[in-house]
Parts: sequence; C-alpha cells; structure tokens
Amino acid sequence: MKLKYLGTAAAEGVPAVFCNCEKCVYARKVGGKEIRTRSGAIIDNRLKIDFPADAYMQALNHGLDYSTLDHILITHTHEDHYCVKELNNRKKPYSQKEKTENPLTVYGSVQAEEMIRPMLQEGVLEFKVVKAYEPFTILDYTVTPLPAVHALNEQAFFYLIEKGNEALLYCHDTDEFTDEHIEFLKTKKVTMVSLDCTNGVLEMDYIGHMGISDNLRMKEKLLKIGAADENTIFIANHFSHNGIAPYEEMVKRLPGFLVSFDGMEVEG
Ligand SMILES: [Zn+2]
Ligand SMILES: [Zn+2]
Ligand SMILES: [Zn+2]
Repeated sequence: MKLKYLGTAAAEGVPAVFCNCEKCVYARKVGGKEIRTRSGAIIDNRLKIDFPADAYMQALNHGLDYSTLDHILITHTHEDHYCVKELNNRKKPYSQKEKTENPLTVYGSVQAEEMIRPMLQEGVLEFKVVKAYEPFTILDYTVTPLPAVHALNEQAFFYLIEKGNEALLYCHDTDEFTDEHIEFLKTKKVTMVSLDCTNGVLEMDYIGHMGISDNLRMKEKLLKIGAADENTIFIANHFSHNGIAPYEEMVKRLPGFLVSFDGMEVEG
C-alpha cells in the first residue's frame, strides 16, 4: 500500500501558528520540508486517516479530490486530527453528490460519534463506532483499532491496517507500547510503522507522546518480538515546534528511520 503524509505536525503546526521561537523563525525562513501542517495521511488515495482543518488545503496542494473519498478513520477528537464541522460540507447544498453515490463513512470512538451525531445523514454522511482489538473491513483493508496511550477523557486509537501481506501500524498520537499492545503485536508482522515523535529531540517524558529515543527503543522492541524485521520501514512523524530540529538533523538523529515531511509517500 502507498502511505502519503499530508500533515506531519502536532496541534500548533510548524511553524506554530502564533510562535516566534527560534525553530519557528527558521521554518518560516527556510520553507520546504521545514513547514509542517496538521496531522493526517491517506492510503492508496482512498482511505483517509484523520481530518484536521488543514485537510482541505492539503488536498489542493497535493492534487487530491475528496469528492471521491468514502472512508475516513479518526484516531481521536483533538482538533489537529478531527475538524468535525468540516465534514458537514459533505451534505447538500455544500456538496451536490447524489444519494445514489456512496456515503462518506467516518470511523472512530464513541466520543467522535457524539460530536458528529447532529450532522449525520443516512446514505450521505455516516459514522461507525469502532472498538479496541475488534477488526473491521474497509474496502480491501482489515483495520484493527488499538487503544492509544493519549487523551485521558476519551478513547483514542491508533490503527493497524492490513492488506494482503502488507501491514501498516500508524501510531499517532500515542506513547510507548504497553504490555497489552506487545502481546497483540507479537501475533502480527508489520511492513510499515509510523511512530509518534512529538517530543522530538527533547528528552522529556511528556505522557501521551514519544520522542526520538522512544522511537528508537520501540523499533528495537518490535524487532525483538518478531513483529518487524529488517525489511520493515520505520517512519518518525507528528512533530511539535518545541521538539523539532532542522530536517537533516532529524534524519541524522533517527538512524534506520525515514523522517516524515508533508507530501512524503512511502510504499510498503
Ligand atoms: Zn496530534
Ligand atoms: Zn515555535
Ligand atoms: Zn492528540
């Protein structure tokens, strides 16, 4: 499958929306890979993961057409992942798609469902509540939600997405794998792993996210339990302006990893 990163920042973006720290000044000056928008990705141009407000501009910048999009997986309700009001634009008169076409189906937690419920319309905009460790099918993908270590007042998920002998573990936003995650992952073989790197170069223990050393450690753990092997592609993604360093420095500090940037495509 082809994973395309559309937004690779944490909530405030890089440069952060209202910030003038050294890192944000640098990002504004240099541009290119140093500019990171809010979190989201798309698989094979047809399975969207998360829908921040930036998703619209990302579609324009990367030549995507959401009028053909029928499925969105939501990790959790933080605004950099779930701009729920935007989804109302799927309905008439904001979209003129006919009821004979596929509805847009959104998948996520009960909390995500509560937020979208007043907008739902059968055959047009639908929601499916998903549960941890209960796999479901979207198109030809088998998706298993895993309980994220993130956001105390809701059930946040990260996802294992399998298709044939390919499997993507998309881990945003979450902390280090728990023993329960490891027990589950022991039974799997993943070909691509995208790890939360919000804390970046900061060696801080900010609960609910990871940084560079955590990413390196989680890679070793997956290799050790046989869930990954030497062909598995590891990617660090979801960076905050506080934890980021210039792109090339991030690459040096993350040996054996790809470092995401907005627009990056990975096949695996
Ligand atoms: Zn986030
Ligand atoms: Zn800043
Ligand atoms: Zn979050």
